[in-house]
Amino acid sequence: MDFVELEAIEGLRWSWNSWPPSKSESAALVIPLSIMCTPLMQQAELPILPYDPVTCLRCGAVLNPYARVEYLSRIWFCSFCHHRNSFPHSYSNIGDTNLPAELFPTYSAVEYSKTAHGIPNSGSNSLNWANGLSSSSSLSSMVSSSAASVSDGDSRGVRPAFVFVVDACTPGDELGVLKNELLLVVEKLPETALVGLVTFDSMVRVHDLGFSECLRAVVFHGERELSSLQVAGFLLCLP
Ligand SMILES: [Zn+2]
Repeated sequence: MDFVELEAIEGLRWSWNSWPPSKSESAALVIPLSIMCTPLMQQAELPILPYDPVTCLRCGAVLNPYARVEYLSRIWFCSFCHHRNSFPHSYSNIGDTNLPAELFPTYSAVEYSKTAHGIPNSGSNSLNWANGLSSSSSLSSMVSSSAASVSDGDSRGVRPAFVFVVDACTPGDELGVLKNELLLVVEKLPETALVGLVTFDSMVRVHDLGFSECLRAVVFHGERELSSLQVAGFLLCLP
């Protein structure tokens, strides 16, 4: 299939149009593998698999068509950490001609109707957030439809969180348009949503949106390496 056509279907743009199958091939790439993803992209026929995903024991990544599979020994290699995983018992009949749907080459984007106990079901609600999108590509329209289906928080009190990361080197006129779009987006978010704003040029600024008396931001030098623990310390959000 043509890569441009595939991008229109999946919303993914690759630096390479394939996934390196092994650690050595991954390390040999001159240009690193990167994929630009369009979140919440409308997909007319997103397949729903009525069972739980098979995940990598080491990193938790989900089995997908890019994973290297050895059918005879019934193992698969994680695309992300290259860990060697065994298939669960329910996949014992797996083979070249008997593939689970998540390994179909055209099923690189699927939705699972995951169940609490791993019991297959015929759930049909898992696509609500994706199906409700309008066809417009503007940020605010994407969020207006998706926010409608974002609940104000679940039973554990976990609220939806949105962090906006803005490249401050963007030309002034584009930055103005982006700012207006972001304001519209924020307006349409659920009342209880947590919102963060990070801007970056040669410095990284984490803006304190809850401090309304004056503009306040924690500034990090763009060339200084900090551990996530140090960053958490500076942001006063250590556990
Ligand atoms: Zn893994």
